[in-house]
Amino acid sequence: MGDNMFVDKAKIFVKAGKGGDGAISFRREKYVPDGGPDGGDGGDGGNVIFKVDGNLSTLMDFRYKKHYEAESGQNGSRRNMTGKNGRDLVIHVPPGTMIFNYETKERIADLTEEGQSVIVAHGGRGGKGNARFTTSVRQAPKFSQLGEPGEELWLELELKLIADVGLIGLPNVGKSTLLSILTSARPKIANYHFTTLNPNLGVVSSSYGDGFVLADIPGIIEGAHRGVGLGHDFLRHIERTRLLVHVIDISGIEGRDPIEDFEGVNNELKLYNETLAQRPQIIAANKMDLPGARENLQRFREYLKDKWPVIGISAAKKEGMDQLKNEIISVLKSLPRLEEDHGEKIKEYTYQKAESGFEVFMDHDVYVVEGPAAEKLMRSVNLDDNYSLKYFQRKLKELGIIDALKEKGIQNGDTVRIATVEFDYIE
Ligand code: GDP
Ligand code: MG
Repeated sequence: MGDNMFVDKAKIFVKAGKGGDGAISFRREKYVPDGGPDGGDGGDGGNVIFKVDGNLSTLMDFRYKKHYEAESGQNGSRRNMTGKNGRDLVIHVPPGTMIFNYETKERIADLTEEGQSVIVAHGGRGGKGNARFTTSVRQAPKFSQLGEPGEELWLELELKLIADVGLIGLPNVGKSTLLSILTSARPKIANYHFTTLNPNLGVVSSSYGDGFVLADIPGIIEGAHRGVGLGHDFLRHIERTRLLVHVIDISGIEGRDPIEDFEGVNNELKLYNETLAQRPQIIAANKMDLPGARENLQRFREYLKDKWPVIGISAAKKEGMDQLKNEIISVLKSLPRLEEDHGEKIKEYTYQKAESGFEVFMDHDVYVVEGPAAEKLMRSVNLDDNYSLKYFQRKLKELGIIDALKEKGIQNGDTVRIATVEFDYIE
């Protein structure tokens, strides 16, 4: 049993918001026949952000929802109105979540501390409105810029599961039964894989996203403190639990006394591991369905006073399960997380987006320009009139595309194709 024994994984798709388009508009005032341009800029698209939430302990939520998209920026409008920025999408993950680019396997972030966050996909920039394209010689630009698309990518999330809660108690008190019932309350998900790997560990789901990892610690009483029974790795794992659910057979059906049982287990625990023995406990008084259980529960409560919460349950009859679960969740909330040692942190990640570069080649007698720079240019202008064509031509020059075409021997009147647009080349 290696350290990576309980690893939770999820594959999801994230898409940042698109930038809003810049507007094309002209002032329309009474008695002013030709108002100046007043098309506003588009708003920026929202980012996709991951943020650590200490109340989470699994990646379970990502089993149901796999696509995440931030809001797009709004388009600009007349009277120089800038479009509203798209809202960021914040995705909450448990501490210890590592984020990988699914395609390249590159690690994007290692999120360990409460509140820590990272932008994994940047929103597209809003396009400029036509008002921004006014120059001394161009008083009425009839074009604007389109918003950029948001970044999008597939991610793989990975989390080493840490058991929050350990189950302890004598043999036959009902630990395995309880574990299987609490952890099978989850909706049908084919093979929530680690649960099938190890029957001693399971995830207890909660509709509020504050589910927890529960581990059965069966071996302690059967001499584990003498090194018998459990694998070393497993013991180390359960040492990290923050809370113990101590299961007792409150019916005393096998001629045993619940109070003696309880004390016996606590003594064994101390011998095995002092720190574990100091963890807070919740007492699950099991087998409440059997005769004698009620009287024993009363007696047990009087004995324990208010030291720990005591909850009467019947694992076999599935009674008291919600009450126990809620008690566990509320106690966990009040307990600090244990310190983790993790690798270096990456606060912000920028993945390489190819934006420059193009090539010119011949397709029969057509000059074809291809590449990210050319495509980006085509995306960012509205080729709807003479003005935009001029703007476009200037951009072609700036990017070096004109020079490249000349180098290829282009002549007046030849055809050029960029992306899906064809036009005649005129000096
Ligand atoms: P463990 O050794 O602590 O893991 O105990 P198990 O879960 O294996 O249960 C031991 C026995 O007690 C099994 O026969 C269970 O069916 C039974 N058992 C568990 N919970 C209850 C309960 O709430 N009521 C009754 N009557 N029997 C139970
Ligand atoms: Mg068992």
